[in-house]
Amino acid sequence: MKPNLISSAVFVCSSPDVSKIPAHRLPEYAFIGRSNVGKSSLINMLTGQKKLAHTSATPGKTQMINHFLINDAWYIVDLPGYGYAKTSKSQREVLGKIITGYLKSGQQMTLLFVLIDIRLEPQAIDLTFIEQLGQWEIPFALVFTKADKLGPMAAQQRVEAYKGRLLEQWEELPPVFITSSEKGIGRQELINYIESINQQIKN
Ligand code: GDP
Repeated sequence: MKPNLISSAVFVCSSPDVSKIPAHRLPEYAFIGRSNVGKSSLINMLTGQKKLAHTSATPGKTQMINHFLINDAWYIVDLPGYGYAKTSKSQREVLGKIITGYLKSGQQMTLLFVLIDIRLEPQAIDLTFIEQLGQWEIPFALVFTKADKLGPMAAQQRVEAYKGRLLEQWEELPPVFITSSEKGIGRQELINYIESINQQIKN
């Protein structure tokens, strides 16, 4: 079987809030996580373009919702990072509004990938965010990043521990992916997963 790859990835627009996102009818897969979790690196790794996500993450544009058109068929949406220690309270409120506005608009997003740094203990800010997603009934999957920083066994143990933590609150677990942008780990799995949803939508 031919591997599912990304043959084209094009930056389309940066939107300051959800009302400015151009209307379209293609599936959208949004990526979110704490600042520095490795979101830009993951988007670049998935698309095979080293500078795609960074280009739009120039200062002043960091609080934007960035759209990338993939294979002329679906979008990657790069959402602002949350929980960066250096942002002021007012900046965080603006960010919160942008993120909430996008997530709750509920029109375009097909699925949200929530990125988690695999090396860290479960962080309150991520757990709270995930709980919020549950309350809003937003479909999401977890993507553990930077797996190359741990051995495969340790990485798996981390993920199992995280799942255990989630099961304290949830009856069902979301889909989980282990990735490393540095090593290309998880690329094919993520793209296959997205393509399988695209196929379901088509049918
Ligand atoms: P963002 O703020 O979430 O967009 O994070 P970046 O993609 O800019 O990455 C933050 C830092 O983590 C950078 O120094 C990256 O080089 C590093 N990083 C990102 N992904 C990986 C990875 O898979 N492995 C390793 N070892 N480092 C990574």
